[in-house]
Amino acid sequence: MYSSAQIIEKTTRYGAHNYAPKPVVIANAEGTVVTDPEGLRYYDMLSAYSAHNFGHRHPEIVAAAKAQLDSCTLTSRAFHSENLGEFCESLAKLTGKDMVLPMNTGAEAVETALKTARLWGARVKGVENGKQEIITCENNFHGRTISIISFSTDPLAKDGYGPYCSGFKTVPYGDAQALREAITPNTVAFLAEPIQGEAGIIMPPEGWLSEVREICTQNNILFLADEVQTGFARTGDMFACWHENVVPDIYIMGKALGGGVMPLSAIAANEDILGLFTPGSHGSTFGGNPLACACGIKALEILQRDDYPRLAREKGEYFMAELKKIDNPEIKEIRGRGLLIGVEFHGSAYEYVKACIHEGVLCKETHDNTIRFAPPITVSYEELADALARIKKAFDR
Ligand SMILES: *Cc1c(COP(=O)(O)O)cnc(C)c1O
Repeated sequence: MYSSAQIIEKTTRYGAHNYAPKPVVIANAEGTVVTDPEGLRYYDMLSAYSAHNFGHRHPEIVAAAKAQLDSCTLTSRAFHSENLGEFCESLAKLTGKDMVLPMNTGAEAVETALKTARLWGARVKGVENGKQEIITCENNFHGRTISIISFSTDPLAKDGYGPYCSGFKTVPYGDAQALREAITPNTVAFLAEPIQGEAGIIMPPEGWLSEVREICTQNNILFLADEVQTGFARTGDMFACWHENVVPDIYIMGKALGGGVMPLSAIAANEDILGLFTPGSHGSTFGGNPLACACGIKALEILQRDDYPRLAREKGEYFMAELKKIDNPEIKEIRGRGLLIGVEFHGSAYEYVKACIHEGVLCKETHDNTIRFAPPITVSYEELADALARIKKAFDR
């Protein structure tokens, strides 16, 4: 077995440097606890950016994956496979939508939603093809493809990758009036995160989502909700839009959908929208593969059976209340919903992250000043209490 130092050296030597990982190697993981090759234990308070809502290696999801490995892993969509129908049914019922289109990564699901909206604009709304406009938000994060970074407002994500895709407009996040004013007869959709994760757990003003819903309906444009990070109970409701009883036209989902075992993403919408696709008009070799779907089916079952939204809500309230007791004038604001919590500092959070990791709590700063805490929803109260004691120690320095 290689040491942490050897692993980091090799990764840095041969891997592209498009990430700056914290100097911790996760070699073994179970639930909330991960260990490095030397046996040091940490609490995972990032959960692979919310992909680990079920905790690392949830036994039932691992069992479903193992069983599937013994029958069939991949067929491509050239043929039918066992789990796709059941997976789509399960996700359609959960979202209350007619149909589901599976992909693999969050970015692909966003791309799929953008293509769907443009197609709907041309075929249903009657916008001339090539003129479709989609409105997005400042400080958005929707993934890393060329079309998606074309409407990013983060120079780091965007610079050097031109030429960019056209047909996108940006308005301030949480500003309903700006959205209203940006709409033209060619607008086909509005794309937004119900809480901006990567931007630093930015909460929109209360009522904004309902207003967005109303504006989209009034103007005959689709509301595309990117629930890749906020979905599947993370914020204390099944989807973050549901806190305001808002139903988007298209749900965009990923991360936790594969149960932390397989990449699995999807969009869900009604037949008047998703029914527009015809054979050959969109697809993915791995999308909807039986191994990923086996994990997805089990994940969706556990999520509902064990009432994850309630767990995230209750544990989140406890976690947030305890964090707020920490007395450090450097802390500017603590905000969030459910188990998606941001601690914003007046200055850089870098040294605090370092201190947390030193105390055995894995977390990461997002946009310099904010630490995101997003433990698995399966985290126990004992683990939370122990992690909190360590975070307090780290923040007291
Ligand atoms: C992570 C994320 C994505 C992209 O998902 P990938 O699987 O990394 O492509 C898209 N939207 C949001 C809101 C995300 O948090």
